[in-house]
Amino acid sequence: MSETAAGAGADIIVKAPVVGITKDKNNFVNGVNFRYNRREYTSKTKIVIAADGVESQVGRWAGIDTTHDLRDVDICAQYLMSGIEIEPDLCDFYLGREIAPRGYIWVFPKGDDIANVGVGIGGTISGKGGKLAIDYLNEFVKSRFPRGKVLAQVAGCVPVGDSLPDLVADGIMLIGDAAHHSDPISGGGIANAMFSGMFAAEAAIEGIRVGDVSAEILRMYQVLWDKDIGKNFKHICQIRDSVLKFSDELFDRCAAVLTKTPNKTIDMVTIFKTVLRHQPRLLLELRHLVLAGWI
Ligand SMILES: Cc1cc2nc3c(=O)[nH]c(=O)nc-3n(C[C@H](O)[C@H](O)[C@H](O)COP(=O)(O)OP(=O)(O)OC[C@H]3O[C@@H](n4cnc5c(N)ncnc54)[C@H](O)[C@@H]3O)c2cc1C
Repeated sequence: MSETAAGAGADIIVKAPVVGITKDKNNFVNGVNFRYNRREYTSKTKIVIAADGVESQVGRWAGIDTTHDLRDVDICAQYLMSGIEIEPDLCDFYLGREIAPRGYIWVFPKGDDIANVGVGIGGTISGKGGKLAIDYLNEFVKSRFPRGKVLAQVAGCVPVGDSLPDLVADGIMLIGDAAHHSDPISGGGIANAMFSGMFAAEAAIEGIRVGDVSAEILRMYQVLWDKDIGKNFKHICQIRDSVLKFSDELFDRCAAVLTKTPNKTIDMVTIFKTVLRHQPRLLLELRHLVLAGWI
């Protein structure tokens, strides 16, 4: 993406942390202060698009509360591992209260014997009994890939709650994890971050075209986000809350019926419809979603 942006004429400055924002007399964000090569600079802006990840500081400086309730984050640890036996065309997901409480373990292949192997656990669970996400990951790796080699390691926090209620303020928009745009069930945020960036760009173009970058005009971004993706977030959060009550045994039964899902349509709604058809008792648990006409 940066290559494409540079090709289209964007100036890209790397290793330049933003350390503050500037505002005009009307309280519109109109610039950023950043550090580069041990010196501080100010860059004047028409619009700031804050893509600075979880608990965005840039957003907070603009007056948007970007903090999370611990219940709305998962804590993740991941290894890039080589020399492991995997099915290179399949992503594996492991669920269970013992191996990944309130989360899951994933094995995402990147080649014949190389994969991202990671775990996410609930924010309120991390540290309980002295166990962190990395401890769950090490236990899994020891039993599943004892001879694998760790080539890289990352850890971090992903938002798994609803989207921020306010994505914009005068002269600024928040996108991606900064806007709490990761999927509330899977925690996957890369695709959503790209979509929110695209919608924010459309609002930025419009604001610059009409010469008005007030929150009122930039809210077009929020409307596009809600219409395409955000409207489902509340439902997905409700599914998440119901699914969190499932026992391991119920998960096993659900997984067994998933083999009956038509291959080409394996999205979240199809998965739930298939599970409900075979586990009608779950209808009681998920009745609010049925009433909302969502499944
Ligand atoms: C271990 C782990 C594994 C994951 N695996 C997946 C996966 O397989 N699939 C998926 O879809 N999602 C995955 N996610 C979630 C995904 O990484 C995020 O949702 C996604 O990266 C969000 O993109 P973003 O650009 O909004 O934020 P980020 O990727 O967090 O990028 C924010 C950037 O802003 C920079 N920054 C922060 N503050 C400043 C500042 N003041 N000035 C300048 N720069 C700043 C940071 O250094 C960082 O580079 C994973 C997350 C973790 C923690």
